[in-house]
Amino acid sequence: MIVILRKDADPQQVELFDNWLHSMGLETHKSIGANHTIVGLVGDTSRVDIESILALDIVETVRRIQEPYKNANRKFHEQDTVITLSSGAQIGGGHFLVMAGPCSVENEDQIIGVAQAVKAAGAHVLRGGAFKPRTSPYAFQGLHEEGIRLLLKAREATGLPIVTEIMDAQHLPLFEDIDIIQVGARNMQNFELLKQLGKLRKPILLKRGMANTLQELLMSAEYIMAGGNDQVILCERGIRTFETATRNTMDLSVIPVLHELSHLPVVVDPSHATGRWQLVPPLALGATACGADGLIIEVHNDPEHALCDGPQSLRPDRFADLMGKIKSVRPSADHSFMTGTPVVE
Ligand code: PEP
Ligand code: MN
Repeated sequence: MIVILRKDADPQQVELFDNWLHSMGLETHKSIGANHTIVGLVGDTSRVDIESILALDIVETVRRIQEPYKNANRKFHEQDTVITLSSGAQIGGGHFLVMAGPCSVENEDQIIGVAQAVKAAGAHVLRGGAFKPRTSPYAFQGLHEEGIRLLLKAREATGLPIVTEIMDAQHLPLFEDIDIIQVGARNMQNFELLKQLGKLRKPILLKRGMANTLQELLMSAEYIMAGGNDQVILCERGIRTFETATRNTMDLSVIPVLHELSHLPVVVDPSHATGRWQLVPPLALGATACGADGLIIEVHNDPEHALCDGPQSLRPDRFADLMGKIKSVRPSADHSFMTGTPVVE
């Protein structure tokens, strides 16, 4: 349920109203927009009497929200969420963020070399997996703790913030200094992990599961946000379809749809979506033109010998070339037609 307050609402009465809602066991989220202040009610609103709220002087109108996701819903929060990293780089609300790096951290020279190369090309964040969710238990599983240590070393060397994947809440202490924690496609519905991440106050990159709907993605974001962590970045990384020509099927329509449904930033991963480096540039440009708030791209100094996902990794020079093209597409990318949907007509 959302309550839209009158423009001239008396602040003291607003506070009394807020206290009254809390006394009924409801949580409230205030979103102050240019034209309206919206109070979002989270919890069991079935016993809330709409008529008595409407009777209050400070209230303009009341709406029930049909969608099961509340905190992630644009109806609760008209403005785009903007997330700021330790480096000052931002994502959302018109700020574009590029994350790039190898699928997996392999050794110090590799991760620092790639970090320097992607930084020189204009990337804002270094990606690299230390814990890898591999289909085969015999495949390289990542360097684990040592991988995290090397990522932090690469941050020290370049100043780039780090994004890396968590697979188990037990590993959380290792992620204390990590800037953005990634939840991979395979863990999108690991609800216990999501609840633990909800207790943090740091950005979470939440990837869409390979067979999950957008509503399910937003419900997973809701798990994190319900714990009080509102810094969630949604990521489309391709889904499973009957098509076998690409690793997954890249669905660009999700970008404007997610912007319509939610205020959270939307990132696209064209590497896992396509599985082939040749397809990464066209899909990265397509996603940018569709209004994505950022990209996450696999870059490797020696893709032929990569321990994981070599075939979909760009060489640094190709990544630099792509960054130039992204910069020229970016000014014409406009998602404002899907955002700022007026709640009150
Ligand atoms: C990854 O980013 O390396 C990864 C495993 O991605 P996904 O969860 O999208 O498969
Ligand atoms: Mn990968």
